[in-house]
Amino acid sequence: SVRVRFAPSPTGPLHIGGVRTALYNYLFAKKNNGTFILRIEDTDQTRYVPNAEKYIIDSLNWCKIPFDEGPGKNEKFGPYRQSERKEIYKKYAEILLENGWAYYAFDTAESLDFLRKEHEENGKTFIYNWHNRSKGNLINSLILSNEEVQKRIENGDDYVIRFKSPQDEILEMEDEIRGKISIDTNTLDDKVLFKSDGMPTYHLANIVDDHLMEITHVIRGEEWLPSMALHILLYRAFDWKAPKFAHLPLILKPIGKGKLSKRDGDQLGFPVFPLAYKNEETGDVSRGYKEDGYFEDGFINMLALLGWNPGTEQEIFSLSELVQAFDLNRVSKSGAKFNPDKTKWFNQQYMQQKSVVELANLYEPILKEKRIVAEKNKIEKIISLVKERAVFVADFWELSNFFFQAPTTFDEKAVAKNWKEDTNKLMEQLLIVISTIDDFSSQNTEIIIKDWITKNEIGFGKVMQPLRLSLVGEMKGPHLFDIMEIIGKQATIQRIETAIK
Ligand code: GLU
Repeated sequence: SVRVRFAPSPTGPLHIGGVRTALYNYLFAKKNNGTFILRIEDTDQTRYVPNAEKYIIDSLNWCKIPFDEGPGKNEKFGPYRQSERKEIYKKYAEILLENGWAYYAFDTAESLDFLRKEHEENGKTFIYNWHNRSKGNLINSLILSNEEVQKRIENGDDYVIRFKSPQDEILEMEDEIRGKISIDTNTLDDKVLFKSDGMPTYHLANIVDDHLMEITHVIRGEEWLPSMALHILLYRAFDWKAPKFAHLPLILKPIGKGKLSKRDGDQLGFPVFPLAYKNEETGDVSRGYKEDGYFEDGFINMLALLGWNPGTEQEIFSLSELVQAFDLNRVSKSGAKFNPDKTKWFNQQYMQQKSVVELANLYEPILKEKRIVAEKNKIEKIISLVKERAVFVADFWELSNFFFQAPTTFDEKAVAKNWKEDTNKLMEQLLIVISTIDDFSSQNTEIIIKDWITKNEIGFGKVMQPLRLSLVGEMKGPHLFDIMEIIGKQATIQRIETAIK
């Protein structure tokens, strides 16, 4: 059965590109009744950030794409942190040494630097591989005698174990998204697999773990495409069946060229992280979609379409609809441009779908902060009137504050335009009409007031505009009679009286 993994390195917060990789893995797993695994690739201790793993897990949970297996959960293939699997990798490096697919190398960083510079000066690039691995200025077990190698290791000399990439071969590979890819193995360098500090490199740990965890499909970012050849060769060297590979397109900047970065977000005013993130070292806080008021389902819907399309015009997908529709064959090869406005558009669409009960729960803390006490029922009614115009829950206050409190200021321009000489008199007459209304429902007040306007041939604008100004303070807001119903007869009368003064 299908087993896929999301394998982030905990070097900082998860960028939305990482969330999308996790999402596509999740969708692919669920579509195929498979298992979605989280593996923490923390072998590079120098780049390790302590709170990053928690951030990654919190993010997946917020997005509602939790893993089935991973740290602390269904650990049948565990542990799922590579730092806790250290002993495993050594054994596999040794297998490759024994079967001739790897060798020890004792070159110092300085001597390699020297060779690199020397090549550069001659207009060449230095690649540690078949054409120089057995030559004099390199020091490795292909040149040294067995005794010499043993002596150096016993001496505690630093070494690395390198992969012996094959010579003169055109390697044919298949990517689920990109199709056939071939590479000339002479261009590959002999990548380091293991170091004398006892730590494997990414490549060795990644292949060993994918094999031991029985991963069937590797779905990951395009930046790993150059490693695919080495990975396939490693599977061959171990005589293991390789999983299928799918490399996802980059997420591109909204403006200009290149990969989306945190800086683009800072410049254009949108987050690139799912959750806000505090860098403990610098104290900097990065904005997050959650804290900025985005709904997780709209966010996920947007991300799903960033590099994949269903082949139809449909844009709104629930998570389970995404699972049904998702197909690796419809993931694009070319980069996907991130669009912050579209992200807001999705939020607005999801806003309309949310129940007023749910939205009222989200609005309540904001009202509390403003020291507004109101019945749930009333809040729900208000939301049903204003949500159409809201992108975020935080917009509700701007759109609905006049339901909770009388206006304290009046838009001067609108007053100058709409409050004429005879308006005070008209409003006084309107007050009398209003005071006689018992059933203060929107429909009823509308019938009575419009009736009165028509019978007295006053003109709608002359009454309705000043009435709106009196109740709202500006020329905005939903249907006026709906506002009256919600604030009630007493407040309506009071606000008109205040406006007359
Ligand atoms: N640890 C790698 C990363 O941080 C995983 C790459 C892969 O999926 O093979 O992206």
